Amino acid sequence: KREEVPASVHGINPELVDRRAAEVVATLKQAGFEAYIVGGAVRDLLLGLRPKDFDVATNATPEQVKGLFRRAFIIGKRFRIVHVVHGRGREHEVIEVSTFRAYLDNAAAGQVAGNEKTSKAQLSGMQHAVDASGRVLRDNVWGPQDEDATRRDFTVNAMYYDPVSQIVVDYHKGLQDAKKKTLRMIGDPATRYREDPVRIIRAVRFAAKLGALGFSIEPKTAAPLVQSQALLAEVPQSRMFDEMLKLLQTGHAIATIEQLKKLGMSTGIYPLLDVVVERADTPFVNAALTDTDRRVGEGKPVAPSFLLACVLWEDVHKGWMERQNQRQHPLPALQDAIDDVFDKRIGDVSGRGKLAADMREIWVMQPRFEKRVGSGPFGMVDQLRFRAGFDFLRLRADVGEVEEALAEWWQDFQSASDDRRDDLMDQA
Ligand code: ATP
Ligand code: MG
Repeated sequence: KREEVPASVHGINPELVDRRAAEVVATLKQAGFEAYIVGGAVRDLLLGLRPKDFDVATNATPEQVKGLFRRAFIIGKRFRIVHVVHGRGREHEVIEVSTFRAYLDNAAAGQVAGNEKTSKAQLSGMQHAVDASGRVLRDNVWGPQDEDATRRDFTVNAMYYDPVSQIVVDYHKGLQDAKKKTLRMIGDPATRYREDPVRIIRAVRFAAKLGALGFSIEPKTAAPLVQSQALLAEVPQSRMFDEMLKLLQTGHAIATIEQLKKLGMSTGIYPLLDVVVERADTPFVNAALTDTDRRVGEGKPVAPSFLLACVLWEDVHKGWMERQNQRQHPLPALQDAIDDVFDKRIGDVSGRGKLAADMREIWVMQPRFEKRVGSGPFGMVDQLRFRAGFDFLRLRADVGEVEEALAEWWQDFQSASDDRRDDLMDQA
């Protein structure tokens, strides 16, 4: 049932609404289309937070949207959305505009894909709806707003806000759930996890993120999580890897690990995540996770390579020591230990070349920090990834793995003048 909630009831502060997003909605409405801010932004607005990004949903097709803006780009082959771009360079801002999509449950999706009698008219409304293998890309079948709401995951993520009229459109009692601070899956949770197992991970992510605001996950939404975990095996590894990073890098890593434990999912989501959970209480990994949460909270960038280098350091360090005990020279021993760890823990997730290279660089810098002779240190500080390597050394010193004095020396050296650097070299 569609409910239209006025500002006097929902209380959204219009000043938290991004001006560009409001303009995009206004332009679409002036052209005669329906348009709203949607999803996570509406949820955050209702909670009094300033959303970090704004998505717009409309009944205009991507081509129609594109036609209304000077700089708009249709993105994605499978999930066609439009990026409306404002400003240039660093300051540029992208508003993502997507067309209302139909909710096709698995049965309906199967019919669209399998039924040869599907009429031409039906199919034309579903251009791009079927991929080369005949599988339905159910997210690309346009539909009415109520279906667009129903295909979304949680009730608090499925509301629409019109910044012009300031009305919130709510089909699933999202407003009530936001007030009650409840994270509730739309429809039958077990079915929704089956349709898209990534929602299992999203449940954990939002439980952690919103948990900080007093939210809890509705028992019926939580109940099928554990038994649904096995479904994650069907999800492509690269998507799993990305989802795992989102769990760790959106500012609530520590809370996420608590949720995983509380929900009975400490293991079995993803092998590398198992390692993180297992080590979350060790001083080194705990410091890395805490540091990541703090940085995200301060709006600073975080690199997955740094966090993962911290998580896997225990293995690298152990392998490195063992190889040296077998009389291998330290540097090749380290390189070989790193290769072993990549084989064992990261596997061949394609497209991770850069990440692996950055992790390796952080690790390989560690023994070099201990060699403060000749031109070594001068070359080190000019290295592109020096900062990450140094931050890693800093954490090692914090937990007592290397001497505090070593980290302090490098702290001084990197910011020192040339003369002072010569002095520091003499002291080393
Ligand atoms: P965040 O603030 O962490 O970005 P978000 O709610 O904006 O949270 P997104 O991943 O950006 O999350 O997705 C935007 C919206 O798209 C969600 O609010 C939800 O309505 C919908 N959505 C995203 N992923 C799914 C999914 N797997 N199943 C159903 N709906 C989804
Ligand atoms: Mg978002």
